[in-house]
Formats: sequence, C-alpha cells, structure tokens
Amino acid sequence: MIAADRAGAPRRTDRRVASTAQDAGSAGAYDYIVVGGGSAGCVLANRLSTDPAKRVLLLEAGGRDWNPWIHVPVGYFKTMHNPKTDWCYKTEPDKGLNGRRLDWPRGKVLGGSSSINGLLYIRGQKEDYDHWRQLGNAGWSYDDVLPYFIRSEDQERGADDYHGVGGPLAVSDMRIRRALCDKFITAAGELGIPPRQDFNGAAQEGAGYFQLTARNGRRCSTAVGYLNPARPRPNLEIVTHAQTERVLFDGRHAVGVTYRRKGSPREARCRGEVILAAGAIGSPQILLLSGVGPGGQLQSFDIPLVHHLAGVGRNLQDHLQVRMVFKTRGPITMNDQVHNPFKKMLMGLDYLLFRRGPLTMGASQVCVFARTTPEAATPDIQFHLQPLSADKPGEGLHRFSAFTSSICQLRPESRGVIELRSPFAQDYPAIHPNYLATVKDQQVTVAGMKMSRAIAATETLAPLIDHELSPGAETASDEDLLVAARNLSQTIYHPVGTCKMGRDETAVVDERLRVRGLEGLRVVDASVMPTLVSGNTNAPTVMIAEKASDMILADARPSGAARSN
Ligand SMILES: Cc1cc2nc3c(=O)[nH]c(=O)nc-3n(C[C@H](O)[C@H](O)[C@H](O)COP(=O)(O)OP(=O)(O)OC[C@H]3O[C@@H](n4cnc5c(N)ncnc54)[C@H](O)[C@@H]3O)c2cc1C
Repeated sequence: MIAADRAGAPRRTDRRVASTAQDAGSAGAYDYIVVGGGSAGCVLANRLSTDPAKRVLLLEAGGRDWNPWIHVPVGYFKTMHNPKTDWCYKTEPDKGLNGRRLDWPRGKVLGGSSSINGLLYIRGQKEDYDHWRQLGNAGWSYDDVLPYFIRSEDQERGADDYHGVGGPLAVSDMRIRRALCDKFITAAGELGIPPRQDFNGAAQEGAGYFQLTARNGRRCSTAVGYLNPARPRPNLEIVTHAQTERVLFDGRHAVGVTYRRKGSPREARCRGEVILAAGAIGSPQILLLSGVGPGGQLQSFDIPLVHHLAGVGRNLQDHLQVRMVFKTRGPITMNDQVHNPFKKMLMGLDYLLFRRGPLTMGASQVCVFARTTPEAATPDIQFHLQPLSADKPGEGLHRFSAFTSSICQLRPESRGVIELRSPFAQDYPAIHPNYLATVKDQQVTVAGMKMSRAIAATETLAPLIDHELSPGAETASDEDLLVAARNLSQTIYHPVGTCKMGRDETAVVDERLRVRGLEGLRVVDASVMPTLVSGNTNAPTVMIAEKASDMILADARPSGAARSN
C-alpha cells in the first residue's frame, strides 16, 4: 500500500494511517515502524517486509523522488540546496573555521541522501571495521561486514571475493573519461601512489576512477534499488511528507511514534520495534525530543526524561574538504563545456541518446587514497578530483578553465555535537561540527594540501596548469595553509557518530543497534558508526542496514535469544 503524492490522487495509505491513528490504543497494527526513508531506511523497508506476515510502516519526512534531476547523476547540483529535496541545514559558527557556518545538505526525499549524493561508491578500509570490533562491537569486524557489502551489490564488473552481483545496489564504472583525469592518475604515480582499479577490494591505497552507484547512466539510490521493488508488497506502507516527532513509550518500551503529515498530527503504534533511520541529524533529534538523551539538556527544555543517555548527539564526526583550485592553460575542463551553448547541447544529447558523457558524472571523477607520512599505517587522506571549479559546491561553474583537487583527512580526531534548540520538532537542532580542533587534524590537513600541490607540480600535470587559484601560491607556510583551510574548507557531507554503537557510557546503541536501556527501539543509519570510516559513507550505511535487518529478523524469531552476531 503506497502513499500517492500526486495532488488529487486517492490516498489509500492515508486512509489506512488515519484508521491506525484512531486505533492508536489497540494492540498495535505494525510489526515494524521505520522512521526515515533514506539510505538505511529503504534497505530496512525492503528486507523487513520480505515476510508477508510482518506489517511494516515507513515514514518519510520528504516526498517521492519524482524530481527528474534526482536520477541524472550530475543532477545533484540541482537537488542540493533545493528545499524540496534537501533539509538545507546550516551549522553553527565554527571556531575551527574562523567562525564560518557551513551548509550541510541532507536528502529530504525517498532515498534520503542517497537521492542527492555524489554517487561515489567507496566502502572504507578493512581496518575501520576491525577497529569497530576492537572497540567491543562484536560482529562488526571487516570479515563480519564484508558479506553484507557483497549482498547489497550489483557490480557491473562481475563477482569476485569482494564483490557481488544481483544485489539491489547497482555499482558501475564511470561512463566518461577525460585526458586531465588520466594525467592526474599518472601524476599521482610520479609521487609513488600506485594506480588502483578497485578501491573496494584487497587494498585501498592508490589513484584511479571512482565507481558510481548507478545503472545505465542513471542514479541507483536506495529508493530505486531497494524500495521500488518492494512497493507492490501489501504488507509495506510508505507514507511520505510524514515527519516523525517523538517515539511513544510504555514505561521503557517503545510502542509507536507521533508524526505530523502536512500539518496534522498523527500517531502510529507497533507491537514489534520502532527503528530510527532518520540519519545523523534526524535520529539524535528524535531521541532527544522523545526524552532519551543527556538529562540536563532535556530538563532545560522541560522534556520529560524517559531515559538518560549522555551520548545522544555527541561524537559527531565529519570529513572536511579543502578544495584547491588550479587554473589550466587550455579549455580542458567541464567549465568550458558548460559555458559553450553548442557543447552544452551536445552534452545533453549525448546523455539523452546514449546515457553517457558529462551528465553521467558523479560528484567527482578521480579518487586518490594516500598517506601523508610513511609512518601512517594506511592512507590518511583522500583526494576528490573534479574536472571543474566553482566558488562553492553546488554553485555555478567558473567561466574560465580550472579543476578542483579537494583533499580530506580520513579519520579526524575532532568531535562535535548536535543539540536541541527547542522542544519542537520543526526547529532544526544546533549543529556544532568542531572542525580542525586537534593538532593532528590540522597537521594532516596541511600535509594533504601540500601533497595536492606536489601532484600539480609533477612533470605530467605542471604543463597543463597556469597557476594555483585557490588558496594561491602566496599561501606558502604551514601556518598560512592552516589559515586557508579554516577560511576555505567545506563539508564533504559525511556526518556520522551521533548515536554511536558501543559499550562505554557515551554509547547510544549496543552492537545489535538496540538503544541501550530501552526496549523495542533501535537506531540504524550513519549515526551508529562509532568512528568515521576512511571514505564516503553511503555504501557503509547500506551495509549497516543490511546487517541490522538480519539482526532484527533474527531477534524476532522465538529462538532470537540464542542469536549470533
Ligand atoms: C550532497 C551529498 C553528497 C554526498 N555524496 C556522497 C557520495 O558521493 N558517496 C557516498 O558514499 N556518500 C555521499 N554522501 C553521504 C551519504 O549519502 C550519507 O552518509 C548516507 O546517505 C546517510 O544515510 P542515512 O540513512 O544515515 O541518512 P539519509 O540517507 O540522510 O536518510 C535519512 C532520511 O530520514 C528522513 N528523516 C529525517 N528526519 C525525519 C523525521 N523526523 N521523520 C521522518 N523522516 C525523517 C530524511 O528525510 C531522509 O530521507 C553525500 C551526502 C550528501 C548530502
């Protein structure tokens, strides 16, 4: 049963939900209520509804993914910063960025951020997951999670020890190559960084083209890959434009949620579990509004305390990118194509007729994972090479030829926090990322910027470059580079960790993603990552939801108590 958003179309789901609201006090209609239809939520909706006997409700604050730009890979330039598809969060003034506030886009549409992201398919390093296991999270070592990456995947290159075919998430090679990108890979080789075909296999270090979550030149969000095939199931209800406000408790047991649909308050009850998949900002906000979080903060907003959990909203981590822009001598970048009406028309035709060309490009073309010092055991920075430039991500391209070599530190030590601003769900929480707060983060970032310059200065690349536009060659000392990083950097959209999995006092969920100290409530999304993975975060979030769905189904079986990880 699917909510139809078209104006005037009958809303069968609405009627069912309305009757559920009237029945609110009864035994409970749903086995599972999934809050948030994003990267994780769509996976859960699919996997949990495979058993026709289980009734699943998916509540999504945004609408259907009908905006055509969602499905064109390069279309994230149109969907990001668009309030119809993006929550358009803004951080608080950040000390580490000289008081700047950053735009923090998050998908507000079915598919969530996987509908507006850059499509780059990266899993992180084996050591990331082994570290999660070392922190006490049984069942989350690399060997434990690899089968879930494989299960989720439909890899265009075929199956091997690291990759799967036939899964819901399509992964494919770029449909466009560019001489500048090839040369960037060769230039990295001059610094001893090996070429790499597959960043998600036996080793990550190296330089090569990204793979994308796309099929035949179209985006494969989790709404496309997971939710659409599950839509015909009568036991799955999808309600869009439904913003969950609070979890309802009977004592310590979650028994439902309250939500608002187009202004009117509703309620849904369940006899099984409420699963928060509202993302690294949404999930902690809902917990806090529900009375689960640091007692002092809740008290200050007169929110009745259900359960004190000090870590809700804490442990916020993100990748901060410093975008270095190099002006080129010739018209070899996408800037030139976009500003030439004839070439722009050819780009459109190439896409419409053959599903190839610049419109099939993800947020970036070439990826480099490198170590800033030989002492680093594994790569500590990632490059995203874009054969284009703009003042800010998502803004119009420059009218001159230039490319962007952005670097980000992979495992920042700095930790931020998300806190309520009011007891009302419609007020965005305050986001304090606390970037560049530790000496190590500052050093690695500066070292990454220097490596970006070293690549630009190689025999292969130097002849193509006119000069470094940003931050500019006059920014020479480490101190000046750090100032430039503070003044110029942007998020690369990977907030995680605000409902972290673990065993210590600040952990919000246990290794089965159950909220500690409560029953019938889990969090399953990027917020549960105890530490940020060394790479982009969509594929790891899909993996988390794949694994969680197995755990949820296993725990529901009569023998669930004898569960294994
Ligand atoms: C612009 C951008 C570019 C990115 N590029 C890449 C990339 O190229 N590669 C990569 O791997 N990762 C990328 N990421 C990151 C990646 O997409 C996210 O880490 C991942 O999608 C997070 O998944 P999630 O399920 O935790 O949250 P989301 O996918 O954000 O899903 C949360 C969902 O919950 C909904 N929601 C929130 N609050 C409520 C509420 N109260 N009630 C109901 N619904 C609610 C939201 O609308 C959303 O649909 C990018 C992200 C962005 C924003």
